[in-house]
Amino acid sequence: MSVTRCFSGSFTQQEALPPKAVAAAVAVLQGGRLHRYNVAPGEAGEVALLEAEFRDWQGCEYCLAVTSGGQALQIALRACGVTAGTPVLTNAFTLAPVPGAIAAVGGCTVLVEIDETLRLDLSDLEKKIAESGARFLLLSHMRGHLCDMERVMRICDAAGVTVIEDCAHSMGAHWNGHRSGNFGKVACFSTQTYKHLNSGEGGLLTTNDPKLASRATVLSGSYMLFDRHGAGPEAEAFAEARYEMPNCSARMDALRAAILRPQLAGLARNVDRWNKRYCRVEQGLRGHRQIALIHRPARESMVGSSFQFRLPTFAPEQCRAVLRAAALRGVELKWFGDSEPHGFTSSHSSWRYVSPQALPRTDGVLTTLFDMRLPLTFSEADCTLIATLIRDVVDEVGS
Ligand SMILES: *Cc1c(COP(=O)(O)O)cnc(C)c1O
Repeated sequence: MSVTRCFSGSFTQQEALPPKAVAAAVAVLQGGRLHRYNVAPGEAGEVALLEAEFRDWQGCEYCLAVTSGGQALQIALRACGVTAGTPVLTNAFTLAPVPGAIAAVGGCTVLVEIDETLRLDLSDLEKKIAESGARFLLLSHMRGHLCDMERVMRICDAAGVTVIEDCAHSMGAHWNGHRSGNFGKVACFSTQTYKHLNSGEGGLLTTNDPKLASRATVLSGSYMLFDRHGAGPEAEAFAEARYEMPNCSARMDALRAAILRPQLAGLARNVDRWNKRYCRVEQGLRGHRQIALIHRPARESMVGSSFQFRLPTFAPEQCRAVLRAAALRGVELKWFGDSEPHGFTSSHSSWRYVSPQALPRTDGVLTTLFDMRLPLTFSEADCTLIATLIRDVVDEVGS
């Protein structure tokens, strides 16, 4: 009798917050001053301190904390000058908050193909810039796979295209020694529970441009209290923004900032822990003739908080069978080839607020693409077991 081995961990269970974060949250609650501008005399406030610490960690000039990654994207787009009808280029494979942010500011999404490594197809980027005349690229570092950023910037600089980086999956990653987020004009990060820092919901925006930082700050709803920010530009930078930018009320509160600061201090260590888990899965799947791993370029230094692989020879029924058999073994995979999105929002055909576009290369990749989370509650041994179970399932379905 064959015994089916099974994994019992939860793919959606994050670690408990560090004791310092819990203590900081309790202190904020006891003080009652949860609004970012509600500070006692001489007190900087948790949000301003987080902004200064994230600025220093990221190695940029300015940082603004907001309510979500999606809000950071919307604010970044508006601060860059996107208005109703402005075409904005973005990845054909990303998550719904990205085209959602473009739609929220009235922009027209122009989708750019991805390639087999899940990165933007840079030839298609050049083609779409020329065809659409778009002057903005919202580049999503989807699942942490970083493009050749020197080439992206060469293409975009030559065409006068402003780059907004969506670093929701790449906080802590580097390309060629530079932090993801430091290439474009502005970068957006998420501190939603499933990202690299966990405050339930939350977002951070970084830039080196004082004008853009001032516009973003007023957009976030600063009530002209921008002197209480932790990593904002000088008051002179606000001369125009204070009258021109509407208040979109997207401020971060002190409670979330308080629990993020101790996590930021531990992020470098967690990046290492994620990568150890990622490497276990990669080692476990390497060499299987039906499993195509996603290439990680030498110039990329990643944060392996999720894992993707393709089964390029599998038909849709087989992919569906893999999903089912993996679930029976406790391995929660997502498959992007389904005609209806289940538990994800990454297929461009389900974004009906975006005009339909033909993306044959992206569709070809998504048809056999699988994805799973690697929360830090998994041990390295768990990751080895998960890889073994995936191999078993692929053998069973593919034989
Ligand atoms: C999570 C996410 C965001 C931001 O999402 P919020 O939930 O609004 O913080 C942006 N882009 C991608 C690719 C994401 O996965």
